Amino acid sequence: MPLADLLSTLGDNPYFGAGFGLFGLGLGAAVLRKGASAGLVLFRRNFMMTLEVPCRDKSYQWVLLWVTQKAARRTQHLSVETTFEQMDTGRVNTTYHFLPSIGVHLIKYREKYIQVTRTREQQSLDLHAGVPWENVVLTAFGTNKSLFTDILEEARQMALKAMEGRTIVYTALGSEWRPFGHPQKPRPLSSVVLDDNVSERILKDVQKFICKPYWYIERGIPYRRGYLLHGPPGCGKTSFIKALAGELQYGVCLLNLSERGLTDDRLNYLMSAAPQSTIILLEDVDAAFGGRHESKQVSAAYDGLSRVTLSGLLNALDGAASSEARILFMTTNYIDRLDAALIRPGRVDVKEYIGHCSQSQIERMYKRFFLENNDNEQQATEFAETVIKTGKPVSAAQIQGYFMLVEDCSHNDIVKNHQSIWES
Ligand code: ADP
Repeated sequence: MPLADLLSTLGDNPYFGAGFGLFGLGLGAAVLRKGASAGLVLFRRNFMMTLEVPCRDKSYQWVLLWVTQKAARRTQHLSVETTFEQMDTGRVNTTYHFLPSIGVHLIKYREKYIQVTRTREQQSLDLHAGVPWENVVLTAFGTNKSLFTDILEEARQMALKAMEGRTIVYTALGSEWRPFGHPQKPRPLSSVVLDDNVSERILKDVQKFICKPYWYIERGIPYRRGYLLHGPPGCGKTSFIKALAGELQYGVCLLNLSERGLTDDRLNYLMSAAPQSTIILLEDVDAAFGGRHESKQVSAAYDGLSRVTLSGLLNALDGAASSEARILFMTTNYIDRLDAALIRPGRVDVKEYIGHCSQSQIERMYKRFFLENNDNEQQATEFAETVIKTGKPVSAAQIQGYFMLVEDCSHNDIVKNHQSIWES
């Protein structure tokens, strides 16, 4: 049968006609569906833009803060970050910071709607930080990518403004530095009362160092300076370094050398990768290598976890110099326990003893606490003389504790009860 006759016979068949119609409909729907998804892909490719900000990127925290400012007030889906801040008076301030939760949020920016998707992977970890992998994706209509550049810049400015006049404390997480808590309001340098001229001397030395990078470069000397503050506990070593950082508008990179799992390589890397304009602070360096001052139980509990070695620390101190000034402060309560190699010039350029209170220190602390207009200075002298006459060493922390105890007492009672300084 010729083909034309066959087709006309089939066309006259009602069953075949209906089947063919259904097939046509199905085909049409499939083509439409494919067309729609291809259209969507095409639309997204040509008329929409996305920006992914992974949690490893420096601007991640800035973008989160920006999204918080733009969206957190309106969205009903929040996650919380709680910080505690212990004041010098012992009072604890708790602050709740809200962030947009994991999920999708819509914000309006410059008359444009931007979809913000914050995701957290349950299966993959940020290996450096040991936390679940997160990212934020911004999606907007249009093709003008300068929108994203503007957002990133705005986010950066916003973050810098929030940190203005505040000290960022960094701690080591894996092999990178991460801000620890929220930026803190620094205490004034004058509130840490050291013996005559000590504070001024160190401040002047650091300022001089910061001002002359070319002096170092021209002479081929690594641009770094090391300081060691030593002396009994509670005399203000740590408080001074933090206040100094605030004065210089620097951050503080806190590193605990006795941390288990901190290897020589990691230490070396961390020292060379400290954020710009920060002071690296190694506290209690005498305790870094464990040994004779550590109980057997403690050391057994951590068996197998590596620790920093002295040669590792020396290497890290001498490590490759960067063009950025590296300011390193170490503290110890026992300078005699430190290896001579650790505190030789080049590694430690300035050593300062921060000791028990002198009479002048006690006087200045009294004035700061009780005498607002420097009136009745005689009272400060009388109190300081009474304490010094006992012959017992006293730390600034003890004096501060006592002043808080007798805050509302009369001057005579403060002098009379001075023995309570050593009771706590
Ligand atoms: P260190 O590091 O020498 O052990 P800290 O700096 O940790 O001492 O001081 C402990 C506490 O005592 C802090 O709350 C601090 O405010 C107070 N303190 C210690 N020394 C001084 C000082 N010289 N002036 C004012 N406060 C001090």
